[in-house]
Amino acid sequence: MKGEVVYAGVIIDQAHPSLDKVFLYLVPQDLMEKVQVGSRVQVPFGPSNRKVEGYVIMLESETDIPSERVKAINKVMDDYPVLPRHMIPLIEWMKDEYHCLTIDAIRCIVPPGLRANIKKKAQKLVFLNDPGDLVEEHISYIASKSQYMADVLRLLAQQDGIPLEEVRAATRAPLSSIKSLEKRGWIRIEQQEVYRDPWAYEPDIGIQPKVLTQEQRQAVEELETALIKGYGKFLLQGVTGSGKTEVYIQAAQKALALNKQVIVLVPEISLTPQTVERFKSHFGQRVAILHSGLSLGERYDEWRRIRNQQVDVVVGARSAVFAPFERLGLIIIDEAHEDSYKSDMQPKYHAVDVARKRCELEGAVLLLGSATPAITDYYLAQKGVYKKIEMKYRVDQKPLPPVEIVDMRKEIELGNRSILSGALYRALKDVLQKGQQAILLINRRGYAQFVSCRSCGFVVKCSNCDISLTYHAYDNSLKCHYCGAIHPYPNVCPACGSKYIKHFGIGTQKAEEEIGKLFPQARVIRMDMDTTSTKGAHQRILKAFGEGLYDILLGTQMIAKGLDFPRVTLVGVIAADTVLNLPDYRSPEKAFQLITQVAGRAGRGPHGGRVIIQTYQPQHYAIQFAARHDYIGFYSREIEIRKQFMYPPFSHMIRILIMGEKEEDVIKLANDSKDWLKQRIDGSYVLKQGLDEIGAYSAPLERINNKYRWHVLIRIKPDDIYRQAYHGLVDEYLEWFIGVKETIIVDFHPLSLL
Ligand code: ADP
Ligand code: ZN
Ligand code: ZN
Repeated sequence: MKGEVVYAGVIIDQAHPSLDKVFLYLVPQDLMEKVQVGSRVQVPFGPSNRKVEGYVIMLESETDIPSERVKAINKVMDDYPVLPRHMIPLIEWMKDEYHCLTIDAIRCIVPPGLRANIKKKAQKLVFLNDPGDLVEEHISYIASKSQYMADVLRLLAQQDGIPLEEVRAATRAPLSSIKSLEKRGWIRIEQQEVYRDPWAYEPDIGIQPKVLTQEQRQAVEELETALIKGYGKFLLQGVTGSGKTEVYIQAAQKALALNKQVIVLVPEISLTPQTVERFKSHFGQRVAILHSGLSLGERYDEWRRIRNQQVDVVVGARSAVFAPFERLGLIIIDEAHEDSYKSDMQPKYHAVDVARKRCELEGAVLLLGSATPAITDYYLAQKGVYKKIEMKYRVDQKPLPPVEIVDMRKEIELGNRSILSGALYRALKDVLQKGQQAILLINRRGYAQFVSCRSCGFVVKCSNCDISLTYHAYDNSLKCHYCGAIHPYPNVCPACGSKYIKHFGIGTQKAEEEIGKLFPQARVIRMDMDTTSTKGAHQRILKAFGEGLYDILLGTQMIAKGLDFPRVTLVGVIAADTVLNLPDYRSPEKAFQLITQVAGRAGRGPHGGRVIIQTYQPQHYAIQFAARHDYIGFYSREIEIRKQFMYPPFSHMIRILIMGEKEEDVIKLANDSKDWLKQRIDGSYVLKQGLDEIGAYSAPLERINNKYRWHVLIRIKPDDIYRQAYHGLVDEYLEWFIGVKETIIVDFHPLSLL
């Protein structure tokens, strides 16, 4: 439309609170076609009109601002809008939900390679201009002038659109001959983008879909119905080995058949190579894989393949939830209970929440899969927010492995101070003799150490909060990081009087040494933070173990997930206590999940399998229910405790973390913050109604990188009205305290309070 004036609302690509607003620019006539919602543009900014980049998030035809004060957009950066228009509402939602800057949310969607303006790889392709017109007669005529030119034409007559280098290699024609053909209008040379394809060398195996079990079939049918309707949120609770991955694959196929696209999230690509392989072999070139091991360029290329709708399935870690599909139909989240779905950087989004919102906004179906759903998710399923799908049986009716609980207190009584109980020792010996394999889980040494009695299993906990107290070596004290209570280190066990009470912790390295001494002939491979710091280390270790080069895989929680090794007949948990006693309200949940997951690695092959769990608290409900593979039993017990102590989902937590170099200043700021907040709360009816508790305490990790850490914890009633009120309050708070030298980080849904 001639003469029409269009203004673009632009978010400047600079992360600063003072710039977190929409700036209005005039769209020049010659850019009218190119500037769209979602375009990345370059604009003059500030008094000196320096050139900055930004993103168009709205277009308007009028403004109150006098036109002479509105500057014009300089240029459009890309051939297509980098932000899909339908994802703009998601950006707005994130800003509200996570209190991030608009640009922070945008940066979740566009890859860093785009912003770094990494060069697109391009190649020159040679095409015939008019293939229909090319007859042998013409070619002979050309051949009389130049044999090279004729050869080029013959080559192109067989196959059009060949890279220039290949044309030259095949015909040995000099560039001048090819240019001359171009000048005469016989051929044209075009630039075309190519993608760095990290999987290019992978063959497409093209596995046939499996014949589904009845449970799997019902699950897929239910999902298909929802896909046709275009909405539905599902929680698939299937025991380990029930074939959830096959359900994901076939549901994805249904979505593709409906011309829709699919996002598959896995907790961590490097830890789930088998799942990724299965998707790749089913969807071949139609799948893109996003993972942290990709170079900036590779990542950018994969992103562009997605943005240009050249793939229909994306498999990736949490950030893949932002894959810029236009026809999203299904988001699958495997092992949805995993904490790695929550971002540890700003914005601290949770991929499950983002996925739920995206599905609502874009008419897609959400599928959360897990053997051990998060308590809060299962609670939502009970309330009808998610529809439950259950798969209770393993494929082929293979039984879940029997789980033995070994009471380590008895071992002490018997004089066994080794990390292996008699039972686990004998079981390992047996496995080694039979030439089978074992997985041993040993938790990372608790950096927040708890204190427990080796004679009776008693753990020193806070009476107010039911949270394990944390041992601090420097003043030999025990602290509660939820309420600040301090207790002296007990000399004897308060429960049984034993003097074997002390803080707890075994490392993987030490365990490896001990096992080496007990079984000198065994080939042990260790998988932990130390042995996996190099690129591809995870895969190498898992591959070597899978090929049978080792007898025992010893590792931290990173070995618990998603692995399918048929030769593993024994899984041992060295000390369930380390995870059971984290200073965190979710420690029973974490313990239950970990034990269930790792136990699920056993008995996947023809030789069956067994699981042995060593603990000083054999009676603990998390261990008991895990041993019986009883998720529902565990949930029913845990939800009661959550209710009693008002933990999520019965409250909503807000954590304000304060970090700084001077301890007194950090403590003072934490207390000032709490006082300021408390005063506001007391002055407002809604805030006061919504409050459960507020306090300022030292964080369990009291010092990281020479920075002292304190937090203000606010627990409020979980209703939306209170959440909104508190979001507003925190906004005010951040504005009030802006410019302090300490770092303030707000987390609205903290998973961990460490
Ligand atoms: P989960 O993810 O629920 O732990 P998997 O998807 O890893 O279970 O499946 C366990 C094993 O069963 C895998 O080896 C898988 O290939 C196989 N499997 C899954 N579904 C079927 C089926 N319908 N028929 C035969 N084998 C199957
Ligand atoms: Zn005791
Ligand atoms: Zn406490």
